Amino acid sequence: MVKQGITTAAPAIAPDGGAGPLDRLGRPMRDLRVSVTDRCNFRCPYCMPGEVFGRDFVFLRSDEVLRFEEITRVVRVAAGLGVTKIRLTGGEPLLRRQIEKLVMMIAAVDGIETALTTNGSLLVGKARALKEAGLGRVTVSLDSLDNTVFQAMNGVGFPVERVLEGIAAAAEAGFGPIKVNVVVKRNINDRSVLDMARFGRENGHTVRFIEFMDVGATNGWRLDDVVPAAEILEAIDAVFPLEAVPADYPGEVARRYRYRDGGGEIGLIASVSQPFCRTCTRARLTADGNLFTCLFATAGHDLRAVLRATEDDAELSALLARVWRARGDRYSEERSSLTSAGKRIEMSYVGG
Ligand code: SAM
Ligand code: SF4
Ligand code: SF4
Repeated sequence: MVKQGITTAAPAIAPDGGAGPLDRLGRPMRDLRVSVTDRCNFRCPYCMPGEVFGRDFVFLRSDEVLRFEEITRVVRVAAGLGVTKIRLTGGEPLLRRQIEKLVMMIAAVDGIETALTTNGSLLVGKARALKEAGLGRVTVSLDSLDNTVFQAMNGVGFPVERVLEGIAAAAEAGFGPIKVNVVVKRNINDRSVLDMARFGRENGHTVRFIEFMDVGATNGWRLDDVVPAAEILEAIDAVFPLEAVPADYPGEVARRYRYRDGGGEIGLIASVSQPFCRTCTRARLTADGNLFTCLFATAGHDLRAVLRATEDDAELSALLARVWRARGDRYSEERSSLTSAGKRIEMSYVGG
């Protein structure tokens, strides 16, 4: 595993020249991932294994979940601290009723770009409304084109055809090029990698291959199940030659490559083998209003209590800035020594 050092002296000016507080490692807050629900209609074993998230699992009550007005208020305050991108996620964000209303409210906040990550199962019915509401980008998760493999990977036997229809509906609504996320697990869907690459090339989508991560405490993660990004790159490059593309912006998590024949791009998200904590500018808001400063954090900061106790945005802003300044997270760079430590939150709760 690649281990990387990191400097601990925080510079006074953000590396990207933008505004807002810097954390202890000099990183600004630029992205906020908002989980709008902890529920999902899939049971992907790497995220919400059915044995754990079964009939008896207690999800958040509706009064615990942030209202659209409350989420929008956090977004507005975060924008004032330098956040420029909001990604709606979950659980499955399209299960949240009238999600397009939230999109409209957030898209109206000055300086904010919007995106949404979905399993695609409900996209056919939602794509147009999301576009009309002002959503900027859609990312669809799809781990294989092979129906048997896909049905096993979504844990509920959901047919791949319906997700493909969802992706097509999103493209038709004007969301192209669409990003397609593929989590790669050894001996489960590693043989689907080339098919997915070909699918992206043929349809103008950007496929992003993600290393299986040790998020949460229930997905039975083992290092042996991770297919390193370098191996994925080599397999694709052998058939469709690739060349590296410079990052679009500082903090971009995917390493980008383009096909030498002009067939588009892929991304590799090497969170395990080549961690990118030093440029991580992401904060995460759970559906019930806890702010996390790392995907692997063990505790969040309760914003809901403040949201419901005061109308004063200055107080909320001061809290957010305080939490961000205290941030020293770099879990993926320290992973080898921490993997078995402590109780971690689940990805479906904190939002992927
Ligand atoms: N339900 C939506 C979906 O699946 O797109 C949004 C939430 S999901 C938690 C967000 C992203 O996290 C998905 O692309 C999913 O594949 C990814 N993900 C979930 N568990 C993961 C894991 N253990 N390792 C790597 N990626 C994971
Ligand atoms: Fe649901 Fe997305 Fe997690 Fe799969 S990855 S269980 S679709 S939240
Ligand atoms: Fe960011 Fe934490 Fe992931 Fe590192 S481990 S990239 S700090 S979310």
